[in-house]
Amino acid sequence: MITNKEIPVNTSSLNQISTEDEILILGGGVAGCAASIALARKGRSVTLIEREPAPRHKVCGEFLSGEALEDLHELGIDVASLGAAPIDYVRLAAARRAAEAPLPFPAASLTRKALDTALIAEAIAAGVRVERGRSVQSLSRTRCNAWQATLDDGSTRKAPTVFLATGKHDLRGYARPKDPDRWVAFKTYFRLAPAQSAELERASELMLYPGGYGGIQPVQGGNANLCCVVQQRYLARVGNRWENFLAKMQQDCPHLAMRLAGAEPLLDKPIAITHIPYGFIRRTTEDALYCIGDQAAVIPSFTGDGISIALHTARCAVAAYLAEESAPLFQARMRSALLPQMRLAELAADGLNNSLARAVLPFCLNVWPGVMRLTARLTRVAQHATVAAHAVAG
Ligand SMILES: Cc1cc2nc3c(=O)[nH]c(=O)nc-3n(C[C@H](O)[C@H](O)[C@H](O)COP(=O)(O)OP(=O)(O)OC[C@H]3O[C@@H](n4cnc5c(N)ncnc54)[C@H](O)[C@@H]3O)c2cc1C
Repeated sequence: MITNKEIPVNTSSLNQISTEDEILILGGGVAGCAASIALARKGRSVTLIEREPAPRHKVCGEFLSGEALEDLHELGIDVASLGAAPIDYVRLAAARRAAEAPLPFPAASLTRKALDTALIAEAIAAGVRVERGRSVQSLSRTRCNAWQATLDDGSTRKAPTVFLATGKHDLRGYARPKDPDRWVAFKTYFRLAPAQSAELERASELMLYPGGYGGIQPVQGGNANLCCVVQQRYLARVGNRWENFLAKMQQDCPHLAMRLAGAEPLLDKPIAITHIPYGFIRRTTEDALYCIGDQAAVIPSFTGDGISIALHTARCAVAAYLAEESAPLFQARMRSALLPQMRLAELAADGLNNSLARAVLPFCLNVWPGVMRLTARLTRVAQHATVAAHAVAG
């Protein structure tokens, strides 16, 4: 079973909650924690509200790109010491064929539970007041124009500035557009048979099938993460049942069937989410409301770049706030910066979901591994001058 040491709620800080802080951060995932750590280190008083009492499994492929590793390193998160599995190359499997190409940057894989645990711990260490197990129900303005968040127990928290970082979950009044394709995503873990585990070592494998795509890659502890997305209408064709969908994926993609032969599932059932507005980039926001992470932009999952965007938007929002750049200006600037890579990623996602492209792709795979390298590079959102090779165990 996948387990993680869970850190207790910081009750000492709960007793000291002030009614008004300088900054309120809603959501304690990647973006919320990253922003809170950076702001607290600059001496700002920050309260972070996270609805889960402790980190738990999240639907995510758990691939950490070079940019993500670099940002995490700057935040003081040493993924190697957390047991992250290094990833050196990507393998693309369609129908009965597969091809691989080395990644143009160092990458790693780490369970979200481990990553979120480390980020929350770092936020507490940086002096952030972390309130966990409390869900924000609504956000409004007070008469003095401060923000007021109302929590599920009816209590309120006020601050002049809010960072909205609730990830996949929309806050009432701040919803993102509907997802017309009605994507459904699943994640689970397997312990692979030894030979398959050895084959998968240091690789992230992307598999294509009608109606979606999935990825399998090693995570810490010698386990493998299987994460997949499918449009609702395709899931309906197999009776909306995970077991049927898993069998269909293996039928459509024998490479996955080979990987899972003799594998032991580690979760009783997969975790799932729906409504993923891929391609969303927030156009604008209100004064003193900085939207970050999935609340700023949602890149197609196959790129494995959502965590990097979450960290990048958090870092940029903190810089904008400290430079007294208004939130609407920040949001517009962020949109322009993200737009080219987002559109390219969407175009590539459409290609992967196109049956003709899927039929042709297997024959191109061995000819153009360079295309995979190029796509991997171009769909990165933030290009840093240096890459965090030191952050991953060789
Ligand atoms: C199928 C799939 C696979 C993916 N695979 C990858 C991958 O391999 N690599 C990668 O880089 N990215 C991947 N992503 C994207 C990545 O998971 C997200 O982009 C990233 O987690 C966004 O970070 P965030 O901080 O915005 O949201 P999250 O990390 O989801 O954090 C949001 C937090 O807000 C909390 N919250 C929500 N509502 C409230 C509320 N009302 N009150 C208080 N707290 C609240 C939640 O509990 C959560 O902890 C994948 C996404 C999907 C859907």
